[in-house]
Amino acid sequence: MSRTRVAFAGLGAIGRPMAARLTDRYDVAVWNRTAAVATEFARSHGATAAASPRELAAGAAAVFTCLPSSHEVAALLDGPEGLAAGLEPGAMLIDCTSGDPVTTGAIARKLEENGVAFVDAPVTGGVAGAEAGTLTAMVGGSPQAFALAESYLSAFAKTIIHVGPTGSGHALKAVSNAILAANILALADGLTALVKAGVPAATAVSVLNASNARSLASQQLIPERVLTGAYPKTFRLALLDKDARNAVDVFDAAHVPAPLLRRVSELLGNARAELGESADHVEVVRMAERLAGVEVRG
Ligand code: NDP
Repeated sequence: MSRTRVAFAGLGAIGRPMAARLTDRYDVAVWNRTAAVATEFARSHGATAAASPRELAAGAAAVFTCLPSSHEVAALLDGPEGLAAGLEPGAMLIDCTSGDPVTTGAIARKLEENGVAFVDAPVTGGVAGAEAGTLTAMVGGSPQAFALAESYLSAFAKTIIHVGPTGSGHALKAVSNAILAANILALADGLTALVKAGVPAATAVSVLNASNARSLASQQLIPERVLTGAYPKTFRLALLDKDARNAVDVFDAAHVPAPLLRRVSELLGNARAELGESADHVEVVRMAERLAGVEVRG
């Protein structure tokens, strides 16, 4: 019996392990801007590499996108060789990009006019969660579209939550990552000061983790990446900066002052300008270290 065909565009740091998990259940077609990445993925995972976004979408029951922002998703849909030209009525687009609600609203309306269902389904849980199939997906869309998307998403997500109408998944993801960034920046400030005050960084982190100040950043990111100096590249600072900017748009739309998280967005913009497009998000700690003239190691 032939398996359902699904398609995946965007084999980046997190897209690749998500697409890999889909190959266990479905016939998977992939497309990537750098075509060699798709060709290599197809060879190693028994998938098909499509020559264009249009070809990718043709015959697929569900098409996933996992691109830097909603602007790249909108651009991929357009034109004679675009995704929209290949998406068939009755199919659906599942956008796992951490995107923005406004661009997403326009994308969804255009697709729905052509009988294509849409959900925004950004994920959390990192590259390790994608590899293990334990991501959390926060889904925006109609109840009908959510019901359609849920079983596809379960290939790589363990927790799948319908959070509201179209765009609300992206709003939630943007705010969630602004809060993550606030945690990392707060730890960077606090730890540089404590090291200068004579508290070894590892001691400070142990005590913070036994206190009400603990967070994923203090329990995992700082011990595993900063104290060790390992700084693996799993999630680019440029993408976290984009998420915090999207969060500011959410605050503006809701007429909420949100002074702390707006400042977080500014600080991320400064860090991105200083550290560059390929820096990992946890490297914002390096900026605090430079300003304080001290290293957080231990
Ligand atoms: P990467 O930067 O690793 O990969 C980006 C992907 O998008 C690549 O496949 C890249 O292709 C493609 N791409 C970039 N620009 C374009 C374009 N103009 N047109 C078409 N394709 C393009 O990003 P991630 O995989 O880390 O992130 C993807 C999304 O998932 C982002 O929205 C991110 O915020 C989100 N996310 C990431 C997490 C992580 O831990 N990494 C966790 C949760 C969400 P090419 O190979 O040609 O560069």
